[in-house]
Amino acid sequence: MGIQFNSEAIENYLAPISYPMLIAGPCSAESEEQILQTARELSCIPQVRIFRAGIWKPRTRPGGFEGKGEEALKWMQKAGKESGLLTAIEVARPQHVELALKYDIDILWIGARSTVNPFVVQEIAESLRGADIPVFVKNPVNPDLKLWIGAFERIYQSGIKKLAGIHRGFSFFEQSKYRNAPMWEIPIELKRQIPNLPLISDPSHICGNTKLLQEISQRALDLDMNGLMLETHFNPARALTDRDQQIKPEELRKIIKNLVIRSRKGDQAFECKLESFRSEIDKIDTELLDILARRMDIVRDIADYKKEKGITILQIKRWQNIINDRLNSGMNMGLEKDFLMKLLNLVHKESIQEQNRIMNKDEKKHKKKQKD
Ligand code: PEP
Ligand code: MN
Repeated sequence: MGIQFNSEAIENYLAPISYPMLIAGPCSAESEEQILQTARELSCIPQVRIFRAGIWKPRTRPGGFEGKGEEALKWMQKAGKESGLLTAIEVARPQHVELALKYDIDILWIGARSTVNPFVVQEIAESLRGADIPVFVKNPVNPDLKLWIGAFERIYQSGIKKLAGIHRGFSFFEQSKYRNAPMWEIPIELKRQIPNLPLISDPSHICGNTKLLQEISQRALDLDMNGLMLETHFNPARALTDRDQQIKPEELRKIIKNLVIRSRKGDQAFECKLESFRSEIDKIDTELLDILARRMDIVRDIADYKKEKGITILQIKRWQNIINDRLNSGMNMGLEKDFLMKLLNLVHKESIQEQNRIMNKDEKKHKKKQKD
């Protein structure tokens, strides 16, 4: 299962585009004037190289603006020629791919609502056979990394090697300050599994408003994303979709100006110094693991004793006392309450599982820590 990506092929095509790659443009193509005027204004921002717009809009509920279709592709083609920007649109059907190629669109992306469906992704992949065009794949709406990777594999297998991921956050039920929770650990894990795959962040769909765009854009770059996609409209107040999150080109210019662009790699002196910090961390991690293993040995002794005396695993008073005491000490040591709580829960859960294994599975011989 799974396929091997040729890492050079999937990243080299981006080399001519400077870092960070900036994609801007409206959520939807609404009129010729809107497309041409927005592209014109964006072409005056030197860092912006790619102009985006949605031609067919997947709406959560029916009745809203669903895009202008083929007519809007003509505007995109004209905007690309006039502004010198590369053009990018979303495709969700084989006919969309066919039309995008017909109107010389430079980059395609697969939307979050399509990535969730392997049938749809496979159909798009088949329609891409023989084409030489970069395809960006947005994360699926649900936090399922395998599904996201599966979409890359399907597209790659159809012969498209110019790939990138777009991280646009994940839907969830509860209210939060985000429209789509970023869950940064998911794109980080994607990077770990497919190291050379370029990743672009889409702060507009993560935030759902304009207030957090600067902060999320900075966070994305600090987490080694290759670029940003920011929805930009010449008149956001009149936007037909995603009105609350679109900004004017002049606001985009400000966001770009305020971004701190850090190097992705340091020089030799930096690497040397970093190495010495890292060896400190390595030593501490070894101690940490040793302490955890010793703690688990005692947990096993406790399990034997509880089993012998017929006592339940969970002792809620003890657990409550541990939380109070460790939160207090940990916070005094400068550790965050949230982090302490997660750590304590993790250790306690493992302790309960280990006691359960011993007390209910008649596991007489359990592994003691290897002593030398
Ligand atoms: C969009 O980019 O306008 C869009 C519909 O995004 P997503 O697929 O991330 O919801
Ligand atoms: Mn949008």
